[in-house]
Amino acid sequence: MNELRYPLVGFDRLRMETDGEGVTTLVAGGGCPLSCHYCINKKLLAKAPAEHVTVSELYKRVSIDDLYFRATGGGVTFGGGESLLHASFIKEFRGLCPSEWNIYAETSLAVPRENILCVCDAVDYFIVDCKDMNPDIYHRYTGGEENLMEENLKLLLDSCGPERVRVRVPLIPGYNTPEDQAKSAQSLREMGVSKIELFNYVIRDTE
Ligand code: SF4
Repeated sequence: MNELRYPLVGFDRLRMETDGEGVTTLVAGGGCPLSCHYCINKKLLAKAPAEHVTVSELYKRVSIDDLYFRATGGGVTFGGGESLLHASFIKEFRGLCPSEWNIYAETSLAVPRENILCVCDAVDYFIVDCKDMNPDIYHRYTGGEENLMEENLKLLLDSCGPERVRVRVPLIPGYNTPEDQAKSAQSLREMGVSKIELFNYVIRDTE
């Protein structure tokens, strides 16, 4: 029997107003198709092999905070790695959760479009890290193709609506400038994104 499993590499409870409303639990999953230069997750992953949990096992673990989720409008945030690689798992997990919980997904959108469609009804809010909207900067920093992210963002906006999508635009040392960041924000506004967050990557030596 092929029971869905989630490669759990991080579990962080009782976060307040961090990448989600109210109290959330972050469940970080392994795996990502991109190779961002400053990725700390891949370094962490290399050190800590993933524990593969079933939907009911994960549900049992996060349920300990059920009352906090209900009282604050919080819930569970799927992060990574790339959370939407595990779209079928997230969909099944949502099916177990009380409707009062909110499900958040942090994503770069570097996944097949089927994955986006799969989670459209399962995820309440999407937090997208777009890196940069300039294809050259995007490719140089991530090794991936910007047009996949952009096409998936259009799909997400059309399928789920802009009120459920927040896009984060980083200033990435050595890769883009404040002017590039402002251009990305402008492109996003033209696409219909209404929730845009500019921020700076803080580079730490994790060795
Ligand atoms: S998208 Fe995130 S997890 Fe993937 S390589 Fe980039 S920083 Fe790392």
